[in-house]
Amino acid sequence: MFHLHSPSNTVPRNVNPGLVQNISPYLNPAHVLAPPRIWIESLLNGEYSWHFFRLRYKNLLRLRFREAPERFFGLLDASEGERPLYFACHCFSGPCHREVAVDFLEKLREQAPYRNRVALRTAALAANTSTPALLAVGG
Ligand SMILES: [Zn+2]
Repeated sequence: MFHLHSPSNTVPRNVNPGLVQNISPYLNPAHVLAPPRIWIESLLNGEYSWHFFRLRYKNLLRLRFREAPERFFGLLDASEGERPLYFACHCFSGPCHREVAVDFLEKLREQAPYRNRVALRTAALAANTSTPALLAVGG
């Protein structure tokens, strides 16, 4: 599951820093979920409506997913089930691209490419646990 965390919120003390990813284009522009800074600025100065920003950013995420699905799958793996993954941003208030990113990721989680990957992994784990005798003999 994904948690949004911004500087305006109090950081839960028990959160492992390894579970926090900053997806701000100012603080971590190389992150796969960081939009171009200029889009955030266009949103803030009213040049882009939230609706337009959302569509454009979702389209960007789709393109990035096509180019590098593993980067998205890694985020889904890290937040599978009850495992928490926190997204931090530079913003203090207002609509944030993280909401769009989480929505995109949660939809992706339910779709065939990721479901198939999880099914393959589950099958591989099942195959491994059923062959301890072979492993012992082979040693
Ligand atoms: Zn933000």
